[in-house]
Amino acid sequence: MPHKHCIEVLLDLEDTGVKILDKPILKELGPQGIRKMIPAILSPTVDVCPRCGTVGGDIIKHGTKTSHIKVHKVTECDTYLLLKKQRYLCKDCSSTFTATTKLVERSCFIAKPVKTAILLKARNIMSEKDIAKEVGVSHDQGVKLPDSSPDPSCLLSRD
Ligand SMILES: [Zn+2]
Repeated sequence: MPHKHCIEVLLDLEDTGVKILDKPILKELGPQGIRKMIPAILSPTVDVCPRCGTVGGDIIKHGTKTSHIKVHKVTECDTYLLLKKQRYLCKDCSSTFTATTKLVERSCFIAKPVKTAILLKARNIMSEKDIAKEVGVSHDQGVKLPDSSPDPSCLLSRD
């Protein structure tokens, strides 16, 4: 199994049209620590113009637009797709539009699997035991929150 395909499976990109590019994963320092940037592309074949509805019209590729899409953390680092989205020009109505994917909602930069994870976590007020289980340590050895714990709201990411 090629590495690109492994990454696509791990990040829930199957059936989204997003393809990992054969380029190095970039690491950069962000406000929350190291961020990983995975180069990817979205360039599906488009036969129907979303504006005029022409089917099989003269639709040509018209540059790309790059977006940072938040995906699941990898090794506890914030991780983003550097997603090159194909733009198109419909010669019938002269409108331009950008490729879409079911990975993210329109004008949103958080992948749907991440939103789902947030909702699942928000349902639970986590105990020390649950936190220990989630991070893979023994409750006896690891997670004992001191009485002087910081305000949990300051631990939340502001992404
Ligand atoms: Zn059109």
